[in-house]
Amino acid sequence: MKILAHVCCAPDAVYFLKRLREDFPQAEITAFFYDPNIHPYEEYKLRLVETKRVCQSLNIDLVEGEYDVENWLRAVKGLEDEPERGERCKVCFDQRLSRSIEFARKIGATHYTTTLLMSPKKDIKALSEVGSKLAGDIEFLALDYRKGGGSQEMVKLSKSMEIYHQDYCGCIYGLFKQKGENSMWDLVSFSGRRPGSKEERLFIKEVRLFAESLGIRCREWEFSFLNWKLLRASLRLKDTLIPSLVVPFSRSVKGLLKADVEDVIGDTLIYNKGGIKVMLMDELRDSPLEEINPVADPTFIVSKEYRDLLLSDRISVELQAELSWDNSTVLLMGEDEKLLGIPADTLQDGRGYRFEKVCELIKEGKSIALLGAYSLGKPSLRFLRERLTRDIQVLDYPS
Ligand code: SF4
Repeated sequence: MKILAHVCCAPDAVYFLKRLREDFPQAEITAFFYDPNIHPYEEYKLRLVETKRVCQSLNIDLVEGEYDVENWLRAVKGLEDEPERGERCKVCFDQRLSRSIEFARKIGATHYTTTLLMSPKKDIKALSEVGSKLAGDIEFLALDYRKGGGSQEMVKLSKSMEIYHQDYCGCIYGLFKQKGENSMWDLVSFSGRRPGSKEERLFIKEVRLFAESLGIRCREWEFSFLNWKLLRASLRLKDTLIPSLVVPFSRSVKGLLKADVEDVIGDTLIYNKGGIKVMLMDELRDSPLEEINPVADPTFIVSKEYRDLLLSDRISVELQAELSWDNSTVLLMGEDEKLLGIPADTLQDGRGYRFEKVCELIKEGKSIALLGAYSLGKPSLRFLRERLTRDIQVLDYPS
């Protein structure tokens, strides 16, 4: 017996695949992650990495299907406004299951099933009908592992493995319906790994996957912090765009603000409107905040080579930022009393630790605390120090 199990996400897979393994001990099981319905790509990758962790823990082979998001969008065209569990979802299941069956045939599977059967938000009857209709010569296993306390077991297992739990089904249309204009932050992709972003979480989860593949015990905590997110910023002088960074926790300015230098104090230029300041530095570099600065004037960092130019004329400034309470995580790997702290996020200038570098340190046998959102006042370090008495030595951001 050879079973292909289509997998939609790690929380639905963790108990389902465990039961499948127990109920079909002689079967050869392959998991197939085919989910072009998940948007944006970072979210897709995050769910994939967590599915890899689940499969790694159960010793089940995992194959990633194609992320053919354009085909998926074409398939659901005209059904964008449908509610969850409506017509769009039927097409979405059809598409994912049809492709899974194609793959099942390709690898010579005799049976196939899907972890969607585990999802509390999916209609098990409708899924079973679609699955059986599409199966043809391959037998569809309509397994109901939700009953008999299965759903509760799934939650318990998912919590004990500290699996990332998404808060929307997957597609942009479902997300818009569920979160309205708040869905924007789920869809924005940041360059680098800004504090609390999906990119940062993905990095932490990829490191965890690697550490667990070496048999290292991991522990992950989620914490809340006050986040400052830069949406847009520019500093111009006539038609020249001046390379600049923004001091975290700077407030937004309204529209396009033109201002003249009012005062010069050392290397700080103070402008006559909106509390705008320009701090001149030897080079354009961001630095982590020791603690949150309560002064929220819109402040730019500019290289000293632009000093004369800046003093020659008025500037125009755009700055849009947002404050919010977000979540990030701390990942602890290893049992040593001494911990090496590594920032998981990247600074505005892109500096941060590469995945390969962190893996190298893990392979050297170091016990590591990977610290989310570190650059915004070290909230992860403060959080960890409340919970652990272990000595933590934090590395500087790479130069
Ligand atoms: S809400 Fe979920 S099941 Fe429905 S179409 Fe979107 S991703 Fe597919």
